[in-house]
Parts: sequence; structure tokens; C-alpha cells
Amino acid sequence: MSNPTLQAVKGMNDILPDEAQLWLWFEDTVRDWLEGYGYRNIRMPLVEPTALFKRAIGEVTDIVEKEMYSFEDSLNGDQLTLRPEGTASCVRAVLQHNLLYNAPQRLYYQGQMFRHERPQKGRYRQFHQVGVEALGFAGPDIDAEQIVMCARLWKKLGIRDVALQINTLGDAASRQRHREKLIAYLEQHKEALDAEAQRRLYSNPLRILDTKNPAMQELVSAAPKLMDELDEDALMHFEAVQAILRQHGIAYEINTRLVRGLDYYNRTVFEWVTTRLGAQGTICAGGRFDGLIEQIGGKPAPACGFAMGVERLLALLQEDGMQNPSAPLDVYVVHQGEQAQHLAWQVAETLRDEGLKVLLHCGGGSFKSQMKKADGSAASCAIIIGDDEVLANAVMFKPLRSGGEQQRVGLDGLQQKIRELIK
Ligand code: ATP
Ligand code: MG
Repeated sequence: MSNPTLQAVKGMNDILPDEAQLWLWFEDTVRDWLEGYGYRNIRMPLVEPTALFKRAIGEVTDIVEKEMYSFEDSLNGDQLTLRPEGTASCVRAVLQHNLLYNAPQRLYYQGQMFRHERPQKGRYRQFHQVGVEALGFAGPDIDAEQIVMCARLWKKLGIRDVALQINTLGDAASRQRHREKLIAYLEQHKEALDAEAQRRLYSNPLRILDTKNPAMQELVSAAPKLMDELDEDALMHFEAVQAILRQHGIAYEINTRLVRGLDYYNRTVFEWVTTRLGAQGTICAGGRFDGLIEQIGGKPAPACGFAMGVERLLALLQEDGMQNPSAPLDVYVVHQGEQAQHLAWQVAETLRDEGLKVLLHCGGGSFKSQMKKADGSAASCAIIIGDDEVLANAVMFKPLRSGGEQQRVGLDGLQQKIRELIK
């Protein structure tokens, strides 16, 4: 019975067994795909020092300003935060364990992230990301490889209708030049800025270009463009990324207003967007963050990465009519009587030795009621054991899906026979 006083935290979802099958399938697919590109798994804690995110993500970002679950450890007074994203933790771990300076690293992680946002479709307070980071790579080849990788995953998952948007944020000096011009321009139009933009005018003016406020669209589209300030190296880098995308037949659109929500990006940024999930259409986003490693205390090293929102990806698959796969089960073992139960246990364990997935009926009941459960399960066959079978040193085999005949099978070489019968 539901108990209204004990509910999950708003915006934090249970993933129930039926749906969890789809998650398991997704996680297997993703692991396979990442291993195909030589990425290795890394697992970081869910809780980090608050200072890490302030330093990595930036004080004047949505995440740090208003979305973090931060708290004081009541036992020792440490300031802690539930991770809102994985890149900062991943870089922290790599630096702490000195993984980076002998060899560049291709790493991935998956798991929960926490942001205090207004819950709505595709936007939750606990959500899941797959994060992919290439640390120690400077060239445009790795940026392009990450985009090409994504395209392969969409294909593998059967996802259509996602469009790629790319942009370059250039390097620090050109961003500084652009910033000055942008502030001067926005100051001239101060009366047209909304409250958020006013607040960001001097702290993070680039983010103003990213505004969703319709009343400001005209203003931001006429604003000075970062693209006009880029120096030769950054332009060549961007051009080289695009050349690889073209070689691989990957369609893209250059969106000069794509700036991303976090401070740490430079040069290449990209998003994969669908129109089929309403306003929450970005399923994957990333880019280059050459300054971050130094910013959180390491020797400077270039890097590039991206993160996918798992809930949004799965929503897209479900929208396309994908059903939850059922839990794999080969055999349902039905039994009655004390000796039969003994044999049933032995048979079940033997079949499991052979790698079959076996559900042994527990809790007693008539043959009829047990068979009903077997029929309702995902098993492809039932094995039925009663006194007659014990005497005959055999089991009764009954296909549940194929409509084949029930037959008695001797215990000798049972596993082999069952395997053949299931096929
Ligand atoms: P948005 O603009 O939708 O808020 P973001 O720029 O904050 O996204 P990132 O920090 O780049 O998102 O995270 C990468 C991906 O993680 C997003 O593209 C999205 O798919 C997913 N994501 C981010 N926030 C949430 C959330 N609150 N709930 C579900 N998925 C999310
Ligand atoms: Mg956000």
C-alpha cells in the first residue's frame, strides 16, 4: 500500500524493475561502444568538496549559483556537495592519483548527478550522465573523434532526428577582446536587458548570448561575434575539426550562440539536439576545456569531453516505440513433494553451473498455480518435478513459448539436452 508520508525526494526517480531492464541494456551498449574507442572506466565519489565545483565550473554559472546540493558535514564541518556533473571530479581524481603526465587518458564514467532544478519532463534533480573525457590531447583529431563516436552511438541505439550544433569559443585572449566589445555593446542597450542579463553583464556576459528570453533575441543576434575575434590557431583548429566531420559524412550546423553553461570550455563546443523532447532537447553536450586542469591545481594540459543525459536518451528511445526488454530467464522450475523439492534444487544448481538462468519456484502451492506463475514469467521453458519424476530419475520438460510438446528428459546430460530443447 502506498504511504503518502514516505515518498522519494521530488525530482529524484525510482527506476523500477521493468524499466531497469532498458537501463541495463543501454549501459551494456554504451560500455561496448566506449571500449570500441579505447576508453577506460573510472568511478568517482558522489560527494566532493564544494570548493572543487566552485573552482571548476565557475562562481557565476547556473549550477554553482543555484543548482548545487551543498551541505556541511555535521561531524567535522567540511563543506561538501553532491556532484552536479562529472568532469571536475574526474579531473580531480586524475590529478590526485597522478594518472595524466605519463600518458594521455581516455576515460569514461556513468552515474547519478544532482542539480536543484525545477523538475519537468527531461529535467530532474537526480539524473544520470555518461561522461567521456580525453585528457592530455591538444589536437582537433580528438574533438572530432568524440563527435564521430556520438554519431556511431546514435546509430547503434537506433536514434534518429538528432542534429549536431558546433561552435568555437576561441582562446583566452580573443575571448577577453570579445568580452570587452560585448560589454560595451550591452551597456549601450542596458534598458533592453532583463534582470538576469543585468546581473551577468560584468560577471558572465557571454552567457547573455545564450538567453532564452524572446524579448532579447534581436539584441543578442546583433551583438559582437566572438567568431570575428578568433586568432589564427583557434580558427585552424575549428576548421580541422570540421574537415574530419565532413570526411565522415556527419552533418552539422555552426551555431555561433552556442556557449555552454559552464565556464571551463574553450575552442570546440558541441551539442546534439532533438526537437522531439520539447524544451529539454539537448541529449549530449561537450567540448574542449584546455584551462581546467591547471585551474584545479594541475600542470597545464589540454582536454576535451562530453556528457550525455541518460534519461533524455531513453525518453527518445521510448518515444520511438522501444519496449522495455524483459529480464532474461531460461527455465522456471516447478516442483511438489519433499523429494521432488530436493531434486529441483539440484537440477536448478546444475543448470546454473552451465550458465542457464533459472528461477526455482519458492513458496509451495499446487502444480496448477505454479504453472500459472511459470507461464507468466519470461522463461522459455518449465521443468516440472513430482514424485513420478523422482522415481524415474528424470524431469518433465515443457516449452512455454514454442508450443512444442511436453516430454520427459532423463537426468543424464540434462544440461545439454535442455540447451538443445530451448534453442
Ligand atoms: P540544460 O541546458 O538542459 O540545462 P546543461 O547545459 O545544464 O543542460 P550539461 O551540464 O551540459 O547540461 O549536461 C549534459 C547533459 O546532461 C545535458 O545535455 C542533458 O542531456 C543532461 N542534463 C543536464 N541537466 C539535467 C537534468 N536536470 N535532468 C536530466 N538531464 C540533465
Ligand atoms: Mg542546466
